[in-house]
Amino acid sequence: MSENKQHLLSISVPQILLQTNYHNVLYPRGLAALSSAGIDLYAPEFNDVATVIAGTVQHDAEPATRQGLGQRSISIDRGDLAQLLLDRAAALPNVRVHYLHLLGGVDVANSVVTFSIVGAEGTHVSQEYDLLVGADGVRSGVRSAMQDQVPGFTAKVVEEDQQYKTVELGDVRALRGYDPSLNWEDRAHFWTNARRGVALLCPPRRGTAVSAALVLPRRGAHSFEAMGTTAESVSAFLMRALPTLQRDVGDAQFGDVVRQLLSGQAPRSNRTVYCSALACGRMALVGDAAHAMSAALGQGVNSALETVAVLARELRCADDAALVKAEDVPAALRTFSARRLRDAHAVCRLSERRMGRTPLGRRLFALQLACTQQLGKLGLAAPPVLFQLGKMDMPYSAIAARQRRQVLAAYALLTAAALPAAMGVMLRSLRVPLLVYSLMAAIAAALRAITASRTAKSTSS
Ligand SMILES: Cc1cc2nc3c(=O)[nH]c(=O)nc-3n(C[C@H](O)[C@H](O)[C@H](O)COP(=O)(O)OP(=O)(O)OC[C@H]3O[C@@H](n4cnc5c(N)ncnc54)[C@H](O)[C@@H]3O)c2cc1C
Repeated sequence: MSENKQHLLSISVPQILLQTNYHNVLYPRGLAALSSAGIDLYAPEFNDVATVIAGTVQHDAEPATRQGLGQRSISIDRGDLAQLLLDRAAALPNVRVHYLHLLGGVDVANSVVTFSIVGAEGTHVSQEYDLLVGADGVRSGVRSAMQDQVPGFTAKVVEEDQQYKTVELGDVRALRGYDPSLNWEDRAHFWTNARRGVALLCPPRRGTAVSAALVLPRRGAHSFEAMGTTAESVSAFLMRALPTLQRDVGDAQFGDVVRQLLSGQAPRSNRTVYCSALACGRMALVGDAAHAMSAALGQGVNSALETVAVLARELRCADDAALVKAEDVPAALRTFSARRLRDAHAVCRLSERRMGRTPLGRRLFALQLACTQQLGKLGLAAPPVLFQLGKMDMPYSAIAARQRRQVLAAYALLTAAALPAAMGVMLRSLRVPLLVYSLMAAIAAALRAITASRTAKSTSS
């Protein structure tokens, strides 16, 4: 936003200290975007807020300590990350951060934005702008203004079919199976019941306290609604949904979790937002304002930071002298939107579908994953592409396209395996299926041999 047409950036924030009670996991994708802005969360200066994830502990049966997908990723409180970014921005020349400013409205035609001042009822501040970036979250006021005032701009909002509450699980050292040599303090802990769509997810935080997000289906027998409103009903619900939880956290902490769930905290849910563009005129949207998504795949902040990096590139923020001029802002924003929109939609779709939304969907997903892994062993498919989401070298749209191909290949393999069996049943003879399966096994063995010899050749050369 410019003041008096100088290159002066104002950032308006409603609170003084930004606090949330959940942690975000930043994967290489988000970390690369941050490092393009000169921020390295592995640096010692961030040791007091950022935890380098040592791996995972799955508590569904006996606690299993693994490397896990998120190893070496960073876990950080959402509020700490926001504060850190604001402090960095405030230290730049020509940047001013205005706390306690709440967006009131935007007059798009005249490029004027109005704020009310928190704690000073009736006080409003208006500001002309050359560029307005809406980074105001899933219920973005900037996006609403675009919907109301920009012809042709639309936003589709899909309510998520899951809800969550945050709970404290006490001290990690009190968990059953704790072993100081396994570094459980820096690991993500999970209790899951995939069949019922129930998960208790605990990214690590500084210190030894374990905070969790309890995620449940929005409706049905395993929803917050079905939990009931008495200590007995909540306790029975948890014992059914996550049978090992009480054993792992101990009776006293389990009772405390039950009390927290009864404390009146309403369940929250995410939304998925698909915008028809990420910018119009002199207004741009980033983060949840532009592409809010389910937290299931852990891409919200990662994609937000990547979107901001794309915007910064188009505005040529890295070089003050080359910074896009006020008159060129609309053209730069058009390019930004064209570059990023496909990826924004792709990551929203992937997160919305996540790993299956119904029990049947989750089983099919697991089957498809197993098939893709088998095809991978034959050298006929890459590893499941959904596991590449956090990596920075493949755009979300390419991941979505490859995911579609992997699903098709997996279903083709399943059909090829099921058809001979069906024919055998129809013909009441084992001969046809046995013949086809032997043929398939021979082809698989040949392919495996070809792959092995190719690998041997490439390693020897
Ligand atoms: C339980 C949970 C776990 C998650 N885990 C992960 C994870 O592991 N990895 C990951 O990548 N993502 C994760 N996410 C998603 C991630 O938190 C969001 O995608 C991310 O916070 C979006 O950042 P944002 O800045 O766009 O929006 P927000 O974080 O919502 O920030 C919006 C900001 O705008 C301000 N604002 C709102 N209205 C106004 C107004 N009228 N005037 C002025 N300011 C305003 C708000 O105060 C806030 O500071 C998780 C989400 C949840 C709920």
